[in-house]
Amino acid sequence: MIPFLDLKAINAQYRDELIAACTRVIDSGWYIAGNELTQFEQAFASYCGTKHAIGVANGLDALILTLRAWKELGKLKDGDEVIVPSNTYIASILAISANNLVPVLVEPNLATYNLCPIKTEAAITAKTRAILPVHLYGQLADMPAIMAIAQRHNLLVLEDSAQAHGAELNGKKAGNWGDASGFSFYPGKNLGALGDAGAVTTNDDQLAETLRALRNYGSHEKYKNLFQGTNSRLDEIQAAMLSVKLKHLDIETAHRSKVAQAYLTGITNPAVVLPEVHSKFKIQNSKFMSEAHVWHVFVIRCEQRDALQKHLLEHGVQTLIHYPIPPHQQQAYKEWNMDSYPVSELIHQQVMSLPMGPTITMDEVKKVIAAINTFKI
Ligand SMILES: *Cc1c(COP(=O)(O)O)cnc(C)c1O
Repeated sequence: MIPFLDLKAINAQYRDELIAACTRVIDSGWYIAGNELTQFEQAFASYCGTKHAIGVANGLDALILTLRAWKELGKLKDGDEVIVPSNTYIASILAISANNLVPVLVEPNLATYNLCPIKTEAAITAKTRAILPVHLYGQLADMPAIMAIAQRHNLLVLEDSAQAHGAELNGKKAGNWGDASGFSFYPGKNLGALGDAGAVTTNDDQLAETLRALRNYGSHEKYKNLFQGTNSRLDEIQAAMLSVKLKHLDIETAHRSKVAQAYLTGITNPAVVLPEVHSKFKIQNSKFMSEAHVWHVFVIRCEQRDALQKHLLEHGVQTLIHYPIPPHQQQAYKEWNMDSYPVSELIHQQVMSLPMGPTITMDEVKKVIAAINTFKI
């Protein structure tokens, strides 16, 4: 079976380095908020090109705490509207509702699966205060257009970069476009810890300082509490694991791009719709390639999706669906269940993610392509 993603193989590549880093932490006697965290935060901020990176417990907290910090700083208040793509992973939306803000779902562009700037601007009301674009599947959202809209309407921008570590356009990386950005280091993400972890990146000193307090009971200084904060810390072991893995991220991304290029040129079955790189993002002279897509997942569309998935399984290819149910049809958001988001609904009915990752071999990729091309309706 060709696995969708082989986490064991990914981490086995760095086994010796990971064990050495883990041993260093064990022997240090310091397990929370120490040098490992500071070093990883500095390395990750420098990687993203931002002034700050603030480690937190997971990607959802990165988003929740950033919106929370903006409330503490008086930039957002209960009931303010935040625009978010209707086809995102539910965490982006949970972060908004968790703060008593109102998620306004806006449909994506069907070709790129990312927030449509035209529909975004049309959804702005007197209550809109922020946009939460998601770099879904690893491709940057149309940030030049979204930042221009935000400027025109004086809105905050919080990027959800959980799937797009290292995605870059015009020399600017994911995490350095908006006012702040949330990252997840869940094990299956492009930069994955060996447990839960997340971070916020920003160039705003005041926001960074507020976040450092909020993640630690609202305290800047031991036993002094400015805010009613929470406990959302990135521990020393995970920070040490992430410092090891960050060094290898660009090489892993290059392999993902090579796999994507092979799929894009090799898959010729007319029943399959291939992912598109945004036209603005294409590297000159390349039909496909772009630094703005880091291929967290390689998502195809097919009207006979379930039959294709079964066919691939019979040919030894494991696939996943990102995601089977759109947020507005989830039980958790009953108030939206009768609403219609046709682009999102079509996406959720037809998408399927092919095996993709830093350790899949080109031979395995060939087998996946052959299996897809023999699928008949
Ligand atoms: C994974 C993910 C998150 C949440 O990250 P966790 O670390 O799992 O909390 C948020 N948004 C998107 C788009 C994600 O893919």
